[in-house]
Amino acid sequence: MEIVYPISPHFITQKFGVNPNVYKKFGLKGHNGIDIRTKYPDSLDGKRPMAASWLSDFLLKGNDPKGYGVNFEVIVKLKRDWKLTYAHCEFVVPFKTAQWGEQMAVSDNTGFSTAAHVHLTTKPGKWDGKVFIHEDYNNGYKGAVDPQQFFDELGAIMEDDMPQWLNGLLQENGISLDSAEGRIREIFDQSKRYELAQKERDKALRDLAEARGDATKFEENYITAQKENKRLADEIDELKRSVASRDTQVTALEARVLTLEGQLNPEKVLVITREEYARLTAKKQLDKFTKWELVQEIVKRFIVWKRGDK
Ligand SMILES: [Zn+2]
Repeated sequence: MEIVYPISPHFITQKFGVNPNVYKKFGLKGHNGIDIRTKYPDSLDGKRPMAASWLSDFLLKGNDPKGYGVNFEVIVKLKRDWKLTYAHCEFVVPFKTAQWGEQMAVSDNTGFSTAAHVHLTTKPGKWDGKVFIHEDYNNGYKGAVDPQQFFDELGAIMEDDMPQWLNGLLQENGISLDSAEGRIREIFDQSKRYELAQKERDKALRDLAEARGDATKFEENYITAQKENKRLADEIDELKRSVASRDTQVTALEARVLTLEGQLNPEKVLVITREEYARLTAKKQLDKFTKWELVQEIVKRFIVWKRGDK
């Protein structure tokens, strides 16, 4: 896996710790971060999308015309917790948690800045949900360290902690983690919405199975049930797709699912064998998922696992 830098391509125009004379007046031993180039042939005005390097929780946004200009801070949890400040932006895209590779802002030349670039400050420490405790605030940089340390720690997390099974599975499905663009990002975006629809379907299936009635009815009702189940499954699948694409209509769709469930008359239409039920509901039964669904599920669980709130 490759590291996602705030600006792609990644080119540092001013390193950490340099130019002590310039930064003395700010009470710093030198440049307290790195400056990243933003001017390229396709962004001559220096306005480029700024991407999250890892799961980034939004902390605050500021505007300091004499300093960082339009800037914002995020918390990133790696081996240590990190507070990152991105400065001189044009604007910040509203977000609560930016996923890996997701856009957070657009770069510019606001604040105390002579030319368009991104300034990135990285401070290691401990985030308790309210207060950030710097590892060493008195290090001459008010707690900031060379962002290379941040990217090294990120690289280590990505290399060492990536479970083999996840790697294998993604490879098997032809999904490359070498790029943060495209499909992987799609997975991140969709996984949460997908989970909702999945739960709804599981619940409907569970209700069906519970009310499945006398097993002796199986023979005569089998065909009807199969048809009805397929119709329901199709409808729920369609809902699922809608949910994935239209976030704002989730509530309405949920209501539809409930209505659907209400229409189920287990006495008449539902016959489902124990085996079928087990197959449809067993969480560990991989057959239940299409490959695509499986990968989403895996990535979702990976994110949860990575964040440590399992
Ligand atoms: Zn700078």
